[in-house]
Amino acid sequence: MLGLDYDNSAILVAHLGNGASACAVKNGKSVDTTMGLTPLEGLVMGTRSGDIDPNVFSFLNKQLGYSLDEITDILNKKSGLLGLSEMDNDCRVIEDAAAQGNERAQLTLDVFCNVLAKKLAGFAAEMGRIDALVFTGGIGENSSVIRKNVLERLSIFGFEVDEKTNEETFRGKSGVITKPGSTVAMVVATNEELMIARDTEALIAH
Ligand code: AMP
Repeated sequence: MLGLDYDNSAILVAHLGNGASACAVKNGKSVDTTMGLTPLEGLVMGTRSGDIDPNVFSFLNKQLGYSLDEITDILNKKSGLLGLSEMDNDCRVIEDAAAQGNERAQLTLDVFCNVLAKKLAGFAAEMGRIDALVFTGGIGENSSVIRKNVLERLSIFGFEVDEKTNEETFRGKSGVITKPGSTVAMVVATNEELMIARDTEALIAH
């Protein structure tokens, strides 16, 4: 879409849905991801905490009496946007509450965006440059609020959001959302089903 040289490119991908991860893509290959052994590691998600201090396990067990299964359940199913906001795992509900002045909702959005911005900045350091930052997934494709918040945190890398195109890009629309002369940030509509179908076909073929 940008006409970049595939073999000489450095792209950051922020895939933000109910599950969320970021990826550093250099010369068309994934060279780093926020996910770990499981998808729990990394970004704040709908109900997953993302990165935590591993000592949280012994603290919650010894100090508060939670079992291993209970702690695993809390970190995977009751944390993230849901746990921080104490409202919902759906970003829309939290955005609406924040727009009405709910401070806890605003804090939740800020934590989500701050963690993401820090991860993307780390990936930029790893790759040495940024040709484009791509937002995708339910939140990445539809939330101009989250995209603006993240891009403002990354202004040191030369991102300048174009408010109008940012607000007009949603519901499956793809395109650049930054001003001319800015480091490029764009929205690309995801198509996970197609990717899964291609991978499945490749596996069956062997
Ligand atoms: P996904 O897992 O990629 O299908 O994304 C689902 C999530 O996208 C939902 O849980 C919502 O939090 C989020 N989402 C969808 N539409 C919007 C929107 N207009 N604004 C903010 N978040 C949205």
